[in-house]
Formats: sequence, structure tokens, C-alpha cells
Amino acid sequence: LKSHAAEKTYTIGTDVTFPPFEYANDNNKYVGIDIDLVKAIAKDQHFKVNIKAVGFSGAVQAVQSGQMDGVIAGMSVTPERKGTFDFSTPYYNSGVVMATSQNNNKIKSLNDLRGKTVAVKTGTTGAQYAQSIQKKYGFKISTFDDSSNVYEDVLTGNSVACFDDEPVLKYAINQGTQLSIKTKPAAGTPVGFGVKKGQNGELLKKFNAGLTHLKKTGQYQKILNKYLNAKK
Ligand code: GLN
Repeated sequence: LKSHAAEKTYTIGTDVTFPPFEYANDNNKYVGIDIDLVKAIAKDQHFKVNIKAVGFSGAVQAVQSGQMDGVIAGMSVTPERKGTFDFSTPYYNSGVVMATSQNNNKIKSLNDLRGKTVAVKTGTTGAQYAQSIQKKYGFKISTFDDSSNVYEDVLTGNSVACFDDEPVLKYAINQGTQLSIKTKPAAGTPVGFGVKKGQNGELLKKFNAGLTHLKKTGQYQKILNKYLNAKK
């Protein structure tokens, strides 16, 4: 008889409010594409996950400091991050768009941002993108730790616009958030699961093997459909 080794538990950091990737549902249970995916992969590959919703930059820092094993948070695979992270096979694609309040007809493009304030989330590609064009378009930047506060700042009128991931903004708008997307995706990237560079290769291997298997069985597509076709 083969002996069954105890299943290893990995601590995975994630964002707090980033639907459809991760969010607390009506029963205060953490769900979303990332959560369902990493749980299904863990089951498939015989390991356990302890998911900690600490915010995007919190999760990034926790992995870099070795306090957590990996981050799954709609995380963009960028050349810059590849310097400090190893990433899984991408499981989705994303890009940064600008959104304004639904009733704001004055801000139609980046050219209308001069002298105004925009909202972004700490440490994200949206924040990076805003910083990269800030000089050219002459706006100020307000930074928040989660996307719901970013959107709130636009809805209350403190900021005229925000920069965030297109699938996340689209989902929020579908769910009734009174925002409107005004630009085509910029800074498009694949999205992957990240571990600290040179560490946790074993976890990355399991993640990739599980992802490949879930794609074969159709479970991966089922998870995507569940969240991307979600009705209000
Ligand atoms: N995709 C963006 C990034 O990686 C945003 C991620 C997030 O806010 N959770 O920077």
C-alpha cells in the first residue's frame, strides 16, 4: 500500500474587491474566477490553499517578503514584475481602460483630463499607466488601496475618472455601478498566478499542471462562464 503524504498547504494572497476575479458574495464567502480556479487546481493537484484577502499591493508585498507563497489577484504579467516574480501560464487577458461617471459627458478622452484628478489603485498597472501619461495630459493622481474606493471617488466627483482593468470595470458596470468606459484598453497584458522569483517552483509546477488539466476537463471554461455571464 502506498502511504498518503499529508497535503501541503500554501498561503495565497489576493485582492479584496476585484470582481469577477475575487470578491465576497452575499453570504460573505470569498468567490470569483481566481478563487474558484486556485481551489479547483489545489483539489486537482492534491494541495491545500489558505486564501488571504489582503489587497493587491498587500499580496504582492507578502509574497516578496516570503510571508505568503503566491498571489492570485487578476495580476498582470509584466516584464517589470518578471524581475521579482515567476508567473504561471497565463489564464486570462486584461488591459487598462479609463472610466468616468455615467453622467459625465465632459470627459470623453485623455485630452479632457488636464487640471483634473484621476483615481487609481496602489501598485497596479492602472496606476503605472496613469503615471506614464500624467505629464503629457496634465492631471493629478489620487491613490487608493482597493477598486471599490477608486470607483467611489469617481462617483462622488472627487476624481473625474479612474484607470482600472477592463474586465473588472465591465463587470462592475454590468452589476449597476454608474460608470462608463471611455477608452480602448491600453497596457494590455496576460494575467497569471505569481510566486517569488526562484522560490516555490514546486507550487508553480502544480498550478500549471492543474490549469492544463482543468482546461482539458472543461472546468476552467465553466468557471469563466460562471462569472463572466453572471447577471445582476
Ligand atoms: N491587473 C492589474 C495589475 O496587475 C490589477 C490587479 C488588481 O488590481 N488586483 O496590476
